[in-house]
Amino acid sequence: MAMVTCSRCGETREGMAFQPFQNDLGRRAFENICAICWGEWLKTQQQLINHYGLNLRDPDAQKFLMKQMEEFLWTPVDSSASSGTDQKPEDWIPEDQAPPTPRKK
Ligand SMILES: [Zn+2]
Repeated sequence: MAMVTCSRCGETREGMAFQPFQNDLGRRAFENICAICWGEWLKTQQQLINHYGLNLRDPDAQKFLMKQMEEFLWTPVDSSASSGTDQKPEDWIPEDQAPPTPRKK
């Protein structure tokens, strides 16, 4: 398996076993995303499918997932404070994964 320097986590790791989609995005993911980050996306994708009840034969659902995938894999980790932007991706946490938030008194 080829090593890739991952665009998402920045580590040089094993890449995914095969190109997931026969399109440009699939090729970019294959060449630039490590197997670990790809695995994380697959979990996230499954949660999105469950959450929204997506039908993968629906072209709109496919388009939606492609967009989500692109954001997930290539949203740079921005450590600098970005003030004045309201274009953040939605901070969506699956209900069964959200940790309980203890209230401080
Ligand atoms: Zn990675």
